[in-house]
Amino acid sequence: MRYLCIILAILTLPCLAQTTKKKKKLPYEFPFDSSIEEMYLTVRINLVILQRSDGTGNFDEKNEEHRAVLNEMKWMFNEIFSNNRSYLDTGCYSGKYEVSADSKLRFKIDEMFIKNTHYWDNTDQALCPDKQNWYLDHLDDSINAIPGRKPSINIYYTESSRFYKALVLDKNCSDSLKVPKGACSMWPSDKYDYMRIHIPNYFLKYNSMKNCVANSAKYNFVDWPGVRWWFLDWYSKTTAHELGHALGLAHRNKCAENLMHVGTYGIFLSADEIRLMKQNLLTKNIRRYIEE
Ligand SMILES: [Zn+2]
Repeated sequence: MRYLCIILAILTLPCLAQTTKKKKKLPYEFPFDSSIEEMYLTVRINLVILQRSDGTGNFDEKNEEHRAVLNEMKWMFNEIFSNNRSYLDTGCYSGKYEVSADSKLRFKIDEMFIKNTHYWDNTDQALCPDKQNWYLDHLDDSINAIPGRKPSINIYYTESSRFYKALVLDKNCSDSLKVPKGACSMWPSDKYDYMRIHIPNYFLKYNSMKNCVANSAKYNFVDWPGVRWWFLDWYSKTTAHELGHALGLAHRNKCAENLMHVGTYGIFLSADEIRLMKQNLLTKNIRRYIEE
């Protein structure tokens, strides 16, 4: 009789398991979870600024003006994730979730300046860092292998030598110079033990805005401080947008004010997007970038 009970118990177990098994919900459908909502998470990111071997070709840490641009960009970057209520565009959302003014995501931002013309030059290279045999693979490996270094999301700033001479050295403002854009990130995936983002040709953009856009009739003679603000705004939003992808957010093109809209005009993030980023941070390969 005892054995019969055990056999019956074993036979009914799968049925019990089946009836209690719930359909797995997608992250966007997760109910309001106050613990994740209230949780502060700090993520380590590392800005890798590639310069030519002689130290030119990109922002220079010793240049006062460049230093100020980088510092303001870093400040704005954290601001985007901590204060987005004023950019609210509720028209795009169902109202199902509450809107968070503060994602409670913070970024500990390191920087690294590397002098290497080969790595600096993105001409004819894949712009997306998830490509096989990407040209910065070796550099990324060596940064990640630095003894004692805590892992971080590496954000690479490279430039195109093809346009550098015309735009920066010769201050050529011709509209025919079409500098390739296309910032690109990886998705969080347990297949990878690294995470990187590529932001190409920002120093070229900085120079063209300074030399060609500021004080020009085409842009109503807006002076350099005004144009500098446009640049900073665009620079920090684009990097934040790519970071959104790195934390698992897709595009949201219905809402022009959303950080994840293609082109990145706004900085709004909905509560479900914030929750998804945090959930990915807690459960996927990007977990290793959380500062304890
Ligand atoms: Zn995008």
